[in-house]
Amino acid sequence: DPATGKYTVSFIEGDGVGPEISNSVKQIFKAADVPIKWEFCDVSPIFVNGVTTIPKPAVESISKNLVALKGPLATPIGKGHRSLNLTLRKTFGLFANVRPAKSVEGYKTTYENVNLVLIRENTEGEYSGIEHIITPGVVQSIKLITRDASERVIRYAFEYARAIGRPKVVVVHKSTIQRLADGLFVEVAKELSKEYPDIELKAELLDKVVLDVVSNPSSFDDVVSVCPNLYGDILSDLNSGLSAGSLGLTPSANIGHKVSIFEAVHGSAPDIAGQNKANPTALLLSSCMMLHHMGLNQYADRIQSAVLKTIASGPESRTADLGGKASTSSFTQDVIKRL
Ligand code: NAD
Repeated sequence: DPATGKYTVSFIEGDGVGPEISNSVKQIFKAADVPIKWEFCDVSPIFVNGVTTIPKPAVESISKNLVALKGPLATPIGKGHRSLNLTLRKTFGLFANVRPAKSVEGYKTTYENVNLVLIRENTEGEYSGIEHIITPGVVQSIKLITRDASERVIRYAFEYARAIGRPKVVVVHKSTIQRLADGLFVEVAKELSKEYPDIELKAELLDKVVLDVVSNPSSFDDVVSVCPNLYGDILSDLNSGLSAGSLGLTPSANIGHKVSIFEAVHGSAPDIAGQNKANPTALLLSSCMMLHHMGLNQYADRIQSAVLKTIASGPESRTADLGGKASTSSFTQDVIKRL
């Protein structure tokens, strides 16, 4: 908005712990004077033709603002409820899921100095939802791989590697078995690599990557990995476990051609909702990814550094999931003091 100098961003606070961790982001952004105006979106599911979907005003807000921050959404269990996360991904064509997994200095876990970046194809592969019963006791589930979807996510991986200064892209595959499907994914990567002579491309088998990442995560310090959907789903959680030992610290970005939605990796944590216990770090780090995406780098760095220093300062300042005594609100106040 030229009049106020502020960017408008859609904000879905989410369910369960969502409002508490969202409140923490709002307070910290206010204290850091981030030039953002939030536009709050209600995404309480509505029924259209027996299927759950997102209310129109929320879709309009995100389509207009192009950037959204999102708390966790609970998926109601029962018939006719499609996951709203999946609906958002489909509605806005969010084809790449970016998952950095970085150790938090001063918070000791089994592995130290982990700094992994993985990009997962987000729209097809094993999640294309095409399954048949051939005959009772025999089912078929289709893994769909297309040149178009492979190309856009792999291109994004090359661009991302360039943008964050990593010289290698590793395309993760199992083309020894899935000859056609993963074969196409790798082929597209090799074709695209000609356009990125400054980036080295390696095609690595999934099993080798898993072994290498667990035995020596540092060997991926200069790498951006890119995978088909299912491998990316599993590998990204493995990476989170290695870096933080907890999903409560892991941010993510869902990138489309126009719209991008930033969110914590964890769910709505109904077991601790409303108790001022939730760790807002994952959503805060997601909001920092968002600020980087928008080019507001100084604000991102300032907030990220304050969050990480707060965690590093010791158990008194950490929330219970990290073995600490802090509440959501006391953690938030600590971050604000360190801005
Ligand atoms: P969950 O991530 O909500 O919880 C798993 C465990 O981690 C719980 O013990 C919880 O207390 C803890 N935890 C999660 N986030 C935390 C935080 N910020 N601070 C401290 N502890 C935290 O996973 P779940 O229980 O399997 O799922 C609950 C609901 O969330 C389900 O309805 C599921 O569909 C939904 N979900 C949504 C998303 C999303 O919106 N992206 C992702 C995963 C799950």
